[in-house]
Amino acid sequence: MEAGLYALFDKQDAQSMIKQRRYDGYKNMYGIDLLICGSHQYRGAPILSAKGALYSGAGIIKVMSDEKVIDLLPLSLPECIGISRYKPITKEELQGYDAILIGCGLSLEKESYLLTSDVLVNANSPLVIDADALTILSTNMSLLKDISVPVILTPHIGEFKRMWPYEEGADLMEEATAFAKAYDVILVLKGPHTIITDGTEHYRIASGNKAMAVGGMGDTLAGMITSFLGQGYAPLSAALLGTYIHGFTGDILARKRYTVMPELLAEQIPCAMYILS
Ligand code: AMP
Ligand code: MG
Repeated sequence: MEAGLYALFDKQDAQSMIKQRRYDGYKNMYGIDLLICGSHQYRGAPILSAKGALYSGAGIIKVMSDEKVIDLLPLSLPECIGISRYKPITKEELQGYDAILIGCGLSLEKESYLLTSDVLVNANSPLVIDADALTILSTNMSLLKDISVPVILTPHIGEFKRMWPYEEGADLMEEATAFAKAYDVILVLKGPHTIITDGTEHYRIASGNKAMAVGGMGDTLAGMITSFLGQGYAPLSAALLGTYIHGFTGDILARKRYTVMPELLAEQIPCAMYILS
């Protein structure tokens, strides 16, 4: 691929991709998704991911997490179902989901390493891998070689560099493409004009802004992409649509704000999707 060659994914692309809700739709039709996120140390991240997922149209969201997180759920997101995390996770516990997200606020405790490798080996639904699970993955990239389900990785530059060290000044689109090809995954490389590639197609996302540079923003995005996967969008489409709508919602909010909070962004997703649909 020539350096810099890519398509811009913009509002028209999102409008033509977004599906209408059916008049006879019911919750199971829009995905039952599992978020394996959060820890004793990080209790907010799973809430932001779950809000991103639910507000972008998921039917049912279950959060598997530390007991402390599960206790918070009814207060902060009563629509969500909590599952306390018992170790080790079994294959049966991962059955029956339309999409699975692992990583947001997971922590880098020893237990998270075991959990991440168990999930990567045993999942039989499309997977989104973010945050701490990416850092854990970077210590054993061969884990990706054994996965048979579609995988979307959502690193920021720091997380990407840990998985795929490259030289200063390298062309990011080329590096992203080479990575996606080498590991047969979809890569969402976050930043201004986020790059998305499956190794064959290359996109930059036309939405998003500097007011979104706030902790937790990526957790909301990971939930959104998981939600679109669970709603039956093809993996590349789920990554493109989730990332575009995340930025589009942030752009609307930033018209009247110096910074945009991830929780507020999540709550405004239904309005942004109404505009686009
Ligand atoms: P994370 O670093 O995992 O919290 O992810 C940050 C999220 O916010 C990603 O979706 C980024 O694309 C977005 N974001 C952060 N800073 C900017 C920026 N300066 N311009 C556009 N998007 C940004
Ligand atoms: Mg992040």
